[in-house]
Amino acid sequence: MNRLLLLATGGTIAGCAADSTTLNDYTAGVLGGDALLAAVPQLQDLASIAVEQVANVDSADLLFAHWRALVGRIRDAFAADPELAGVVITHGTNTLEETAWLLQLLIDDPRPVVLVGAMRPATALSADGPLNLLQAVQVALSREARGHGVLVVMDGQIHGARAVTKVATQGVGAFASLGSGPLGWVDDVGVHLPTTSGSRQVPFAGLPLPERWPQVPIVYGSVEPELLMLTACLQAGVAGLVFTGTGAGQLSAAERSALQAWPGKRALMLRANRCGSGPVHHHYEDERLGLLPAGNLNPQKARVLLLLAVLAGWNRVQLAALITASP
Ligand code: ASP
Repeated sequence: MNRLLLLATGGTIAGCAADSTTLNDYTAGVLGGDALLAAVPQLQDLASIAVEQVANVDSADLLFAHWRALVGRIRDAFAADPELAGVVITHGTNTLEETAWLLQLLIDDPRPVVLVGAMRPATALSADGPLNLLQAVQVALSREARGHGVLVVMDGQIHGARAVTKVATQGVGAFASLGSGPLGWVDDVGVHLPTTSGSRQVPFAGLPLPERWPQVPIVYGSVEPELLMLTACLQAGVAGLVFTGTGAGQLSAAERSALQAWPGKRALMLRANRCGSGPVHHHYEDERLGLLPAGNLNPQKARVLLLLAVLAGWNRVQLAALITASP
């Protein structure tokens, strides 16, 4: 029988409310991975699934230490067991896209790594977690998913780690791949994904993850932005900084002047955008201000990339090349 590893981290999929009609006032990360598995007995016919609890938290409370543990466990599991078909990770939906993108940049194996969550707690009427979990397992076991990189399965859709983002606070269809659409879908007939060559660039494949991670804040653009945020970051000597610029990643004149006048060492800085979709392209002032366009990465994913780039000791040229390469 196929072997799968289920890594449970918490979230609404493991959340409990006082009664079945309560959809918002609940505690995330209550049930263990074993309980999630037990709620879907059909899984027993599909695979032999080993469950490990990496965390049991609301994904807003996920820490770098959890990321380090997840990456270490997946790398070890793939290295130790050539027969392991894939890995499924249950996760809160709020930061699921960040974990998916982190793993996409770090895990070098054609076998599927699939993240799944739920928008309704496990106690809800019509909870979406059990079907989402079943479908995530279907995808992780499928030949079609091999070589696609890290995938997210929600509401029957299969998304790639780079493009997927949470786009709604309510409703089971809260994920989208803006600009590109989902990679495929999964239903009772099977897994529908385009075939892939299976060769994928994994830029930080061998990168060891330390206990202490660099400081990489996100600064958000608005009308008359408070410069104290930017100034505080520069003064703190952060290693990286993401600007969520207006429009196509624009900084205000005041922010640009503050950057230009900064006499100290410059962090690695990316310009993302607050529109939600569409690319940020090169601007003629970027070099002078020490900025780099984040391409089509949203601010939270630009931050994940920056964290890894700083850990790997990358410079601006390496970072720019990777943003264009679309791993
Ligand atoms: N607050 C929850 C979390 O991210 C939301 C969810 O899982 O849908 O853990």
